[in-house]
Amino acid sequence: MDRIPTVEALARRGMVVADSECCFCNSGPDSVSHLFSSCPFALSLWEKISLWCRVLNFFVLSFRDLVEIQNNGSRKESERKAVQGVIYTACWLLWKARNNLRFNGKRSSVEEIFSDVRKFSCLYWPAQFSGSCVSNKVLVKKKGTTNNATT
Ligand SMILES: [Zn+2]
Repeated sequence: MDRIPTVEALARRGMVVADSECCFCNSGPDSVSHLFSSCPFALSLWEKISLWCRVLNFFVLSFRDLVEIQNNGSRKESERKAVQGVIYTACWLLWKARNNLRFNGKRSSVEEIFSDVRKFSCLYWPAQFSGSCVSNKVLVKKKGTTNNATT
């Protein structure tokens, strides 16, 4: 996890960064551990994702928990891969939101990030979510609406 250039990781490489606090909550360090697993902002996102993906016992105490969470419960292989994909997508979007806030001063809400997680996840793994993905149906419906409007 040291490859992700958080302030904490940069400090270990000898770089001095003035603002070392988490830009989401301003009450924790800018570290992988905090940004992805203990920041209240991230925990709100994981809570939404656990409900959406119907993953029970979605406890995120460390980044490793995120990587291994799809192994919890008795899921089909395709469902496990889909959950893993959703989590990786969420991590990427969380990191992107962190960078956008830290470097551009633009704050995203948890709802906005969650909305993007659903959009990207359904685009990448539509088969896994058919029948269980509300936003996938909405996305298809929206696409149909857009097509009808343009034709
Ligand atoms: Zn935080």
